[in-house]
Amino acid sequence: MNNSPVTAAQIAHAIRNVPDFPKPGIQFKDITPVLADARLFAGSIDLLTEEFAPGSVDAVIGIDARGFIFAAAAATKLKAGFVPVRKKGKLPYQTLEQDYALEYGHATVAMHVDALKPGARVLLIDDLLATGGTAAAAIALMKKLEANILGVVFLIELKFLGGRGKLPGQPVRSIVQY
Ligand code: AMP
Repeated sequence: MNNSPVTAAQIAHAIRNVPDFPKPGIQFKDITPVLADARLFAGSIDLLTEEFAPGSVDAVIGIDARGFIFAAAAATKLKAGFVPVRKKGKLPYQTLEQDYALEYGHATVAMHVDALKPGARVLLIDDLLATGGTAAAAIALMKKLEANILGVVFLIELKFLGGRGKLPGQPVRSIVQY
């Protein structure tokens, strides 16, 4: 058993590039090999949460659907709650909603109205930062609930898409960059 800390390079090595998924011209970054490897999965959570001590965060926010996997594991490690940001129509109780632009058309994300108390110390985690539209919409919802955003962390950042530009003033960090 290799107990040495997992590096970003080891995670990068495990991420599988799938060309033309879900449509021609998109190179999908498949994180399932990272999840399937016990050491890499735990190591990815360690890297995503490394700035934070257990008890210093009230809630980790995860974005539908792959973001849930990392955010939920990070929440248990940080002894924090977990709050889902979901696609519109999936959450059962009253929601706040935020529209955002896609390449063609638009999408809407939602959060329960009572998911966060004003001033809650929160960390947003998603698997991948592409154009930044999804994260910007999630941040808009967190701001509507007056959350104190301590960090916005992605396992993967597609730097050439400039997604950080949509998250001005936010403490953005990523583990693996392309
Ligand atoms: P965006 O709003 O453009 O930043 O897109 C971010 C969301 O889309 C993330 O939640 C990702 O899960 C997903 N996504 C976008 N591009 C890719 C890609 N090339 N590979 C895997 N997931 C992607």
